[in-house]
Amino acid sequence: MSAIDGLPPLREVIATHELSAKKSLGQNFLLDLNLTAKIARQAGDLSGMDVLEIGPGPGGLTRGLLAEGARRVLAIEKDARCLPALAEIAAVYPGRLEVIEGDALQIDPLAHLTPPIAICANLPYNVGTELLVRWLTPDAWPPFWQTLTLMFQREVAERIVAVPGSKAYGRLAVLAQWRTEARIVLSLPPGAFTPPPKVASAVVHLRALPEPRFPADRKVLERVVAAAFNQRRKMMRAALKGLAPDIENHLHAAGILPTERAEQVSLEQFCALARGLA
Ligand code: SAM
Repeated sequence: MSAIDGLPPLREVIATHELSAKKSLGQNFLLDLNLTAKIARQAGDLSGMDVLEIGPGPGGLTRGLLAEGARRVLAIEKDARCLPALAEIAAVYPGRLEVIEGDALQIDPLAHLTPPIAICANLPYNVGTELLVRWLTPDAWPPFWQTLTLMFQREVAERIVAVPGSKAYGRLAVLAQWRTEARIVLSLPPGAFTPPPKVASAVVHLRALPEPRFPADRKVLERVVAAAFNQRRKMMRAALKGLAPDIENHLHAAGILPTERAEQVSLEQFCALARGLA
């Protein structure tokens, strides 16, 4: 893309600001502005939306989000070396980019955002999964965001969208699919990043449902799912025996065979079980 924002190419930005990638911060940068614009488009129509971006780095995706029309972008970046590059972007989009330096796991961004809100990020794997689980498990639903558009290792993306009966099906699938519509929208080979990571990546788009697919108390559901998948090779009656002395009755009531394994149990059945145990 001949940069529509008039800013230098990302390779030049990285050279100017000496942003050599740090492994400790999970830095694998996207330097192709066509690709970052494409990822931003996966977030849907951003005009009229505030976008929370975690880990902007040198700002490739940030530039994509702004060029695609986001009303405002709030970017949280842990690496202070990136701030001058991000300030250059802010200067081209007056009043539309706010950058906070810090750890996204420690910062509450809500005071800086006005609904409707979308979240978009290319994050290190550990931080990404932890933030995803937080964003999926607030007490109140709908959450503060409408959509999440997030880069993950391909294997993690597959766990988010997995269906019962598959190896990838587990806690992440149940938590994500209980209250969102989740799909993989883009797959990226290691070579799309600088430096290339060891494995392939994928972008997952999650849209918050107005209400959960099936009623259940969140905390009970989480407890049931954690217990079931912590011992995923065991039969449900054994994996869940600590939850209730008459667990077999609860399983029957929820339409689950006590001899089934967690990966065969549907979201609807997990919710029925959680309701019975509540
Ligand atoms: N978004 C940029 C891109 O696509 O080129 C950078 C992606 S790089 C995979 C991850 C970014 O997240 C890095 O800039 C890194 O410094 C930042 N980061 C890592 N841990 C973070 C944390 N806990 N809070 C905020 N940013 C973090």
